[in-house]
Amino acid sequence: MAAIMSAILEELVEAGRQLVRDNLVTGAGGNISCRDDAGMWISPSGFSFMDASETDYPCVDIASGEIVKGTRRPSSEVLMHLWIYRVRPDVTAIIHTHPKMTIALTAAGHTLKPMYADYYVYLGSKVPHLPYVTVTTPELAKAVEAEFTDPKVVGCVLRNHGAITVGRSIKEAVFRTAAVEEQAFIQWHAAAVGTPTFLSDEELKKLDELGSEVYRRALLAKMKA
Ligand SMILES: [Zn+2]
Repeated sequence: MAAIMSAILEELVEAGRQLVRDNLVTGAGGNISCRDDAGMWISPSGFSFMDASETDYPCVDIASGEIVKGTRRPSSEVLMHLWIYRVRPDVTAIIHTHPKMTIALTAAGHTLKPMYADYYVYLGSKVPHLPYVTVTTPELAKAVEAEFTDPKVVGCVLRNHGAITVGRSIKEAVFRTAAVEEQAFIQWHAAAVGTPTFLSDEELKKLDELGSEVYRRALLAKMKA
């Protein structure tokens, strides 16, 4: 097997390790993928991102779902990734994690809403919160796919489970996951000490019109992790 089969894969492996360092996943939790001409490179089942190297990441043909490279078994959430790529030609990377503040807050019935600019700038106006569906099942993959069919959706909360974000670059998908967890952290703490104030629709509209944010979003789409 070739040492490194894809430049973007190398970036994905490092992004996975950063997710562990940033406390967004624990143990072998979470799964990540990216696509290039060869297909979808996805993290292997049962590995911590810290332990999995490039050669452990199998490559799956997006149209057929067949493994075309690698010997490891793909993540058990392989269908969730595959089906998003099929309906979203704009997506290059998918990050699925189990961020603890996001899980805690949304499992308690709260819905994440923008309280600061970054969450809105990175995630946009529609972040669906899906009720719990058994992990790794085709039913979960179907429910997630249905949300991402809307091209406006770039992130989704899975109640009692975690978060899933997509990006035109790996870095964009990672930043979106970080912004979801940061929003949960801020919302949690604001609610603990007082009555949270959310950004109004009018304020969100102003963010859409800011040239600097348009620039920031466009740059991120091209950036390497
Ligand atoms: Zn999961």
